[in-house]
Amino acid sequence: MEAQKQKMFDEETASSVVKELRDSFGSGKTRSYEWRVSQVKALLKAVVENEQEIVDALRSDLAKPPLETVVYEIGMFKNSCEVILKELKQWMKPEKVKTSIRTFPSSAEIVPEPLGVVLVISAWNYPILLSLDPVVGAIAAGNAVVLKPSEIAPASSSLLAKLIGKYMDNSFIRVVEGGVDETTMLLQQKWDKIFYTGNGKVGRIVMTAAARHLTPVVLELGGKSPVVVDSNMDLQVVAKRIISGKWGLNNGQACISPDYVITTKDCAPKLVDALKTELVKCYGKNPLESEDLSRIVSSNHFARLSKLLNDDKVSGKIVYGGESDEKKLRIAPTVLLDVPRDSLIMGEEIFGPLLPIITVNEVEESIDLINSGTKPLAAYIFTADKKLKEQFVMNVPAGGLLVNDTVLHLVVDTLPFGGVGESGMGAYHGKFSFDAFTHKKAVLYRGFAGDSSLRYPPYTDTKLRL
Ligand code: NAD
Repeated sequence: MEAQKQKMFDEETASSVVKELRDSFGSGKTRSYEWRVSQVKALLKAVVENEQEIVDALRSDLAKPPLETVVYEIGMFKNSCEVILKELKQWMKPEKVKTSIRTFPSSAEIVPEPLGVVLVISAWNYPILLSLDPVVGAIAAGNAVVLKPSEIAPASSSLLAKLIGKYMDNSFIRVVEGGVDETTMLLQQKWDKIFYTGNGKVGRIVMTAAARHLTPVVLELGGKSPVVVDSNMDLQVVAKRIISGKWGLNNGQACISPDYVITTKDCAPKLVDALKTELVKCYGKNPLESEDLSRIVSSNHFARLSKLLNDDKVSGKIVYGGESDEKKLRIAPTVLLDVPRDSLIMGEEIFGPLLPIITVNEVEESIDLINSGTKPLAAYIFTADKKLKEQFVMNVPAGGLLVNDTVLHLVVDTLPFGGVGESGMGAYHGKFSFDAFTHKKAVLYRGFAGDSSLRYPPYTDTKLRL
């Protein structure tokens, strides 16, 4: 099957797909407001008319609970489309800007221009949203698009290919399914933008390939997103909000899910108690059987997570959970207390249902602790202390920050979503998605009157003194 796929999609095919789309883009059709709106509506229709198929595909790929699919994959995508349909006309308008006295008389504007033919490479954990959200942004901005979904979520990947084939204008919008080989062939082509979601190792491969053609990239990567918990908070609410962001988001397999907690030595046991109580309320006494928890995506990821849990340095640190079922690829919500900072679990992004807690003497120490690692995609703090809140906001570099909750900044479409440093570059959501796929062309209009002689030789001493 794999060999057949490769035969079907070789370098020649990759190059001809891009050429066909480039020729189509050259027709100018994607530039019109009407075409963009028709395609955004078509993509929205594809999702609305096939909600059950999407839920089923995610059930098959990840045992994702239907409610999570409806809220995060389908609901968020619908919201993106609605924002585009409401705002696109405004976004497409050239923006008048002031000019300089040196160009008098003149006027100027910034004209939003489509980039051309773009490539979207997406990841397995939110395989529908992470594919369609950038694609709809690219369409809104007037581009032709190739989507390469993740092969690790095969049911979602083939559903995307089917829906885009059926609902969209395929002269401009295509899906190429496949894994490393197909992506490598696509990356050899010349694109006008590459939008990649996934891990930093492949992010580097994408950026290296893009550099050959001076293609700009958006890299939506991950990292270790910390949660700081100050003492004197309502720990029951804190625990629920951590649970919602960690296990309620694909069982921890989400880029902004809380990776680890930092709290004070006094607060830690109370937080652990609150987490235990609330976890039992959410997932019962046998969470491995819970229908409300996604499974681990693959045996590779199961083995990776098991290794983190079986590291000698964290033995005896599990205070809740720890159970797993290799056959069913299930790992229970697991809390670990006082893990050493040089343990494996603190050395990489966890991307799964394990939550280590690190303790400090004073909560203020958390800022230096976070900043001793790479810049995370998200950072969270629960505190009622105004000064600490300010210190956190001003001194913790991260893709996004959220005070007194987890993950919800993701749903605010007026906020850019993206990383910084090792957690990525560029951003999208709302207008930022349009901007990610748009060139802002500077246009200056000059009148014929009012020319200064200073511009023209001979450059006399008199002119120099003016
Ligand atoms: P993945 O395995 O699905 O890989 C992502 C894409 O890269 C896939 O389409 C895959 O085919 C392609 N790919 C894999 N290896 C390749 C190679 N050698 N050459 C070219 N292409 C290759 O997903 P993943 O990387 O396991 O995703 C998890 C990571 O993504 C985590 O680090 C997570 O934090 C991050 N993530 C970030 C966001 C975000 O919005 N910032 C969202 C989801 C996931």
